[in-house]
Amino acid sequence: MHRRAFLATAAAILLVPVAGQTVAVQAGEADQKPLFRFVQVNDLHVQAAEPALASQDQQTYKQANDKSRWVVEAISAASFPPPDFVVGVGDLIHGEGLERLEPDLRALREILKPLGCPLHPVVGKHEVVQQERSEQYLKPYRDAFGTDRSEYTFVHGGILFVALNNSGAPSAEAAQERNRWLRDVLSAGKDRPKIVLCHIPLIALRDEATLAKSFGFSSYRDGDPGTLKLIEEHRDTVIAVLSGHLHLTGMKRQGEIFHISIAGTASYPCDIAMYEVFPDRIEVAVRQLPATLAKSDPSIHGEARHGRDFTDSDHRTAEEYQRGRPDERRFTIPLSVGKRPK
Ligand SMILES: [Zn+2]
Repeated sequence: MHRRAFLATAAAILLVPVAGQTVAVQAGEADQKPLFRFVQVNDLHVQAAEPALASQDQQTYKQANDKSRWVVEAISAASFPPPDFVVGVGDLIHGEGLERLEPDLRALREILKPLGCPLHPVVGKHEVVQQERSEQYLKPYRDAFGTDRSEYTFVHGGILFVALNNSGAPSAEAAQERNRWLRDVLSAGKDRPKIVLCHIPLIALRDEATLAKSFGFSSYRDGDPGTLKLIEEHRDTVIAVLSGHLHLTGMKRQGEIFHISIAGTASYPCDIAMYEVFPDRIEVAVRQLPATLAKSDPSIHGEARHGRDFTDSDHRTAEEYQRGRPDERRFTIPLSVGKRPK
């Protein structure tokens, strides 16, 4: 072989860590083929037909179950690059009352049946009617997904995923208990790159005063500052915090951490997100449901609910405020050395 050609080939070989082993791959391959993929779904708000609703307040979003079925089918169909797993970042059911949790979870599991890969669920506000850490309210969720699934970690492709229950701490004690658990798992995994999954965002993903109005609930970000503080203490290894809850899509980089909140499917813009993990970066692409489904229930941040639309300093139109800017819907998370899968 010509010496120059050989050197060029040698330079194009990369040593890539895959599932604990170091594997040599061609540079072009490392660029194009992800180590693994996963999909984020949240805020499906699936609701069982029975028991009959006691009041209109319990009514879920229009076509919530149809939209969830579309998502499961899209993920399982050949048209979508098959993910290794799905993370379900809360409000997968509508709930709204203790007696409705079990039937809604049953309807959800029925819809999820054709999903061709594992689902890692996260407790949302609606799974426990905002009663974070209540044994009574957690029981239907644990019966549906497993007793060890209300707060847990798992490792995939060298990244530690931390599924945190921040479904709306009703007391200072609940927040303390949550943060005790988080402190332990962050320090046990201190040398690993990490992605945190939690239903309620830890920072405001729009201008704070505007978001408080357009969301209409004080939980537009986690009310307990202790959780964010703990995560920021591990900023050298925490890649991102993935959340839902707001029913809008947004991304902000605060310090070294990407805070990503996806709208979910219940109301416009009706989004899910695909994450492709490469040795040196994560490519994130938000995908909107087909127009008829996406528009079947309007944004909770606009005209239909408030009689007016909202914009903020970074989002100059109502559409951009609700959907996020193009660079919040497709972007790259570069991985510094401590954040690379190993
Ligand atoms: Zn929701």
